Amino acid sequence: MIRRIALFLGFLPLLLLADEGMYPLSEIHKLDLQKAGLHITATDIFNENGISLVDAIVQIGGCTGSFVSPQGLILTNHHCAYGAAQRASSTEHDYIQNGFLAADQSREIEAKGYTVRITESYRDVSAEILKGISDKTGPVERTEIIEKNSKQLVKQTEAENPGKRAEVAEMFIGKTYVLFIYTYIRDVRMVYVPPRSIGEFGGDEDNWEWPRHNADFSFLRAYMAPDGSPADYSPDNVPFQPKNFLQIDPAGASEGDLVFILGYPGRTFRHRSAAFLRFEETSRMPLVVEWYQRYMELMRTNSSLSRDVAIRHLNRIKGLANTEKNYRGKLQGMKRLGLTAKRQAEEQDLQNFVLADKSLDKSYGTVLADLNQHFNDQAASFEAEFLLGQLRSAAILPAIARSLIKAGVERVKTDLERESAYMDRNYDRTKHGLLMNLNNFYAPTDQAILTMILQRLAELPASELLNPVQDWIRDNGGSSRLPTAVEELYTKTQLTDPVEIDRLLSLAETGQLPATDPMILFFSGLNDSYKALDDLSDRRKGEINRLAGKLTEMRRLYLQKDFIPDANGTFRLTYGYVRGYQPRDAVYKKPFTTLSGVIEKTTGTEPFDTPQALIELYKKSKSRRFFNQNLNDIPTAMLYTTDTTGGNSGSPVLNADGRLVGLNFDRTFEATINDFAWSESYSRSIGADIRYILWITGEFAGASHLLREMNL
Ligand code: ASP
Repeated sequence: MIRRIALFLGFLPLLLLADEGMYPLSEIHKLDLQKAGLHITATDIFNENGISLVDAIVQIGGCTGSFVSPQGLILTNHHCAYGAAQRASSTEHDYIQNGFLAADQSREIEAKGYTVRITESYRDVSAEILKGISDKTGPVERTEIIEKNSKQLVKQTEAENPGKRAEVAEMFIGKTYVLFIYTYIRDVRMVYVPPRSIGEFGGDEDNWEWPRHNADFSFLRAYMAPDGSPADYSPDNVPFQPKNFLQIDPAGASEGDLVFILGYPGRTFRHRSAAFLRFEETSRMPLVVEWYQRYMELMRTNSSLSRDVAIRHLNRIKGLANTEKNYRGKLQGMKRLGLTAKRQAEEQDLQNFVLADKSLDKSYGTVLADLNQHFNDQAASFEAEFLLGQLRSAAILPAIARSLIKAGVERVKTDLERESAYMDRNYDRTKHGLLMNLNNFYAPTDQAILTMILQRLAELPASELLNPVQDWIRDNGGSSRLPTAVEELYTKTQLTDPVEIDRLLSLAETGQLPATDPMILFFSGLNDSYKALDDLSDRRKGEINRLAGKLTEMRRLYLQKDFIPDANGTFRLTYGYVRGYQPRDAVYKKPFTTLSGVIEKTTGTEPFDTPQALIELYKKSKSRRFFNQNLNDIPTAMLYTTDTTGGNSGSPVLNADGRLVGLNFDRTFEATINDFAWSESYSRSIGADIRYILWITGEFAGASHLLREMNL
């Protein structure tokens, strides 16, 4: 049961039916879902006074998952459980390559670094968060006030709700804020992860593409202390009993069926200005693509040395490749749709509307020009800012050094003054994350990343921001000596040793971090740059907070309607229909793929290397369960028109009766544009068909105990 304490958006009573929309909890009851084809009621989906489907949905590893048994069994994507499988893997136990199946509960292994988040309640807190802010508040102060108000509210709420976590989510930038209360489960275990050749069949090549033939699913399980409270991993913990779990419909879906998705989509940017879109299109995304390509090339080359080295890079390469291809899709989509120019034309109408009215002109007349100025300024120094950011985060030892320095500064402050990662409520996790990252450390990769970033920084025009780092480069023999200078940092640093990191963390916590380690010394020398960078970011946040809030007001006045807030990692519902699409002239893509397609694509070489055992089972599949007569095959994946984004991975795809028929895992290349604009013609999400998931679990893995646990 999720308690709703107040309505927060004040939308129109009934929203018009449309396929676009990631509806927050407060909007679900305003939709005419029956008209869309739903057989169950909005209350069955979300019931603030009782149990509903929402109670079965969790956020896990940056993705969505759902409970599918009364014993805390969670179904999510293979790529969402990937980090857990990688961390548990070694050359002897290669769970990425071979998969993992626990024969029974006692053999389920820890999914390190994973938590399960369950939404308990929410309420509008806009007035509390914006308290003390007026039109005259300066940008830095604005950011500080919002942060302070949020932290205070979170602290107070957590004190009133022991064992729970509170989080404030910004719904409309600078306008509406919602406080969510969550349960966090900290003991999560791996139950079944298929081998890479099935879960990740097609690899990066197929990622963001249709047709798809991978079984992108895994089973995990949530555990609690015997007294029912969330606890760290312990053999004494017991399976969590969720308030609700989803029923599976083994019959799956058919073309044209209504489907809906519940989950935690990450971020969309549909209400942003043309200036923002231009900045993304011409500055930020192209630069990210360029650098991620460099990192990947390096990591892939190093990975070919041995399986041990490869395992250390797997998860990072996967993440980089995912973003890099997504951005390329977005860049292509923006160009093709002329998105920035269209938004600019809309804004011209908006500006004319404002100028026609004296009082509107006074309040809003300069908003669009100010936004332009803001993003032009940001574009001018973007490369330097981006690379300074990368310098402290892209390689592992630099990230550890920066965190140690930060801990030294933040941990001596009072809790509410600390940066979020260093507050008491988050600090253990921050420390844990640092040490976990160390497991992926491979010196030649780390060193090469740091060197190439420094090489580029050396070439950029001098500026206050870059002076310290350019001075360091000069003092160490200039650009041509950088590989040697960086190597010296790496041969002398002790930050590869977890015991030393622990020791330095304890010293940092009392403000006594010694600046003797060369890596720490190097980054301490850049403190002024990072202080300036962080101040700049606070100022920008404050400016956008004011301007984006105004832009929303202007649009509401002009269009005379309300909008759905952009995705922000909080709970959303989206619905649509199982449907193919036409990506290009004369090309139509059907909405289902099949097991025969898997066999057809199989080349025997990674990433199209289907296991022989699966090929054998395929030959017998006609007479087996989950074979579909209409398709004359076992369906493997499907397409539908829902409105999804990153974070929706692992979301259950539910049919008109609210039963699970698929598992969302991706979008088509054209649909990467969703984050900026949804389009009926292009926006298609991709899910693993439940029949393939069950066939793999039952027939390939032989995990009939899991099917029984799900009542199948
Ligand atoms: N693949 C995405 C994810 O990992 C889903 C998407 O962006 O559509 O969340």
